[in-house]
Amino acid sequence: MKTDVVVVGGGPCGLLSALLLGRLGISTVLLEKHQEILEHPKAMGITRRTAEIFLQTGLLEQMLQGRPAKDPDATSQWLKDGLNGTILGQVRYEDAPCPYSSCQPFRCPQPHVERVLRAGLAQQPSVRALYGTSAQSVREQSDSVAIAISAAGSHEEIEAKFVVAADGDRSPIRQQLGIERAGPGEKGRFLSVYFRADYARELAGRVGLISNVLGADFFEVFVAVNGTDLWLMHHYLQDGESAQDYSPQSFVPIIQYTSGMPQVPVEVLSVNPWVMAPAIAKRWRQGRVFLVGDAAARVSPSGGLGMNNGLQSAHNLAWKLAQVVQGRQPLDWLDTYAAERLPAARFTFANSEGNADEITEIIERAFGGDWDGARQAIAHSRRAGHGYGQDFGIVYESAAVHPDASDAALPIDPVNDYVPQGRPGHRAPDFLIQDDKGQSMSVLKRFGYQFTALLAAQAPDGLLSSFCPDAVLLREGVDFQVQSTQWREIYGVSDKGGVLIRPDGYIAARVA
Ligand SMILES: Cc1cc2nc3c(=O)[nH]c(=O)nc-3n(C[C@H](O)[C@H](O)[C@H](O)COP(=O)(O)OP(=O)(O)OC[C@H]3O[C@@H](n4cnc5c(N)ncnc54)[C@H](O)[C@@H]3O)c2cc1C
Repeated sequence: MKTDVVVVGGGPCGLLSALLLGRLGISTVLLEKHQEILEHPKAMGITRRTAEIFLQTGLLEQMLQGRPAKDPDATSQWLKDGLNGTILGQVRYEDAPCPYSSCQPFRCPQPHVERVLRAGLAQQPSVRALYGTSAQSVREQSDSVAIAISAAGSHEEIEAKFVVAADGDRSPIRQQLGIERAGPGEKGRFLSVYFRADYARELAGRVGLISNVLGADFFEVFVAVNGTDLWLMHHYLQDGESAQDYSPQSFVPIIQYTSGMPQVPVEVLSVNPWVMAPAIAKRWRQGRVFLVGDAAARVSPSGGLGMNNGLQSAHNLAWKLAQVVQGRQPLDWLDTYAAERLPAARFTFANSEGNADEITEIIERAFGGDWDGARQAIAHSRRAGHGYGQDFGIVYESAAVHPDASDAALPIDPVNDYVPQGRPGHRAPDFLIQDDKGQSMSVLKRFGYQFTALLAAQAPDGLLSSFCPDAVLLREGVDFQVQSTQWREIYGVSDKGGVLIRPDGYIAARVA
């Protein structure tokens, strides 16, 4: 079998990669060793930036359907002596909408994300999704890669121009290629316990998506899966303990004790071990093979950014592969993927590690009896901030961006603050436009997954054609209406200017 791209791994990052390649008409084979989706939830939170990607690619509405009927009251909170105990600190869901985006963060369990992506993939005529099929090995040839695959005892070889290795944290492909990772090593082993317990009435008005619960002799992290009766508890394994020391049933008394609600019946649904061992692959490309998602960068779950970071990398890579497959760019230009996304992953990694360090400090203070100190550390933690910089402030510098002579406006706190700007290499700022019926909508919705020339009212049609001759034109006053021309100030363009926006929603070039 021959194809342009083989994507190995049908987790969220592999599925999105294959879906976007399919949207661009690239012949793609997706290999996923499991037939079915793992129903035990891992990632729960979609960030604003990932929501923008879903908006741009027309997937947002379906993703939002996975949002549980009841939102939690807080994104994260710290409690003493039980889920129903004293609140030490809380980050509430923001009442005011984010000023920089039409998209809000939302909860969506990872299995729903994967279901939506699998359904989208099924509609792509250029993609073949082979569930229940494993990649055994990859072998680089002069101008292609041979991938040995196996399914139900039969073996075959596929020849592809490129391979996207989205095969998860342990990434057999990364290991086969001998690509090393850098990271602090193992930071903890956990059992993720998925259980049912109807806490809705007991916790009315104080359900946290993440609830860190401290007691005199315990620390447990609870995650509200549906806001009422489905929960996860991440149980830390002490030195010398192993997963075999716990049966599912053994968690019932632990949950009843640490929740502070011993009277509420608990039914354990599944238990999944995981290891906190954040690490980033030192190289994200070897020849024609590219690492994406956890295979490329595994960040600590503190912050809920792992899947989001991986999806953003998939969004960055797919159109670039298409450019080279279609002969628009040379092979070496694909180095722009790692040039852009490796620093982004390092930033996200450092942010998540910062969160993890703050969590450790809070726990140590509490276990030392310094509850006031713990309260203060919670109040000052970075998770109490908006995270706008993490969402929108990641800037790219590579051969896939045409810089102009301007300097970036830098925020003071790059994690929490963000300065919208139309400088090449920045995320295209969101603004509201009016559709034909006068309804407001985000301009991002009009970007799709293609090059777009966003032009001010008086700009000539060909303003940006030297950068991209066939970009879709989106002209103010013709293709979209605005109530004010403030967008031009933010983008730094006159009434004759414009910007070229890449398929991943980043600004490639600006003519002021
Ligand atoms: C406890 C926990 C909580 C988390 N919470 C969050 C959160 O709130 N927000 C967030 O953004 N992230 C979170 N994450 C991280 C998130 O789950 C991962 O970042 C995400 O699953 C990575 O997606 P992926 O597609 O790269 O890899 P995976 O989801 O691991 O998928 C890889 C796929 O590759 C397949 N595969 C592997 N080898 C082969 C092969 N040889 N052939 C074929 N298929 C193969 C596997 O079966 C698997 O389906 C959390 C993680 C954990 C452990």
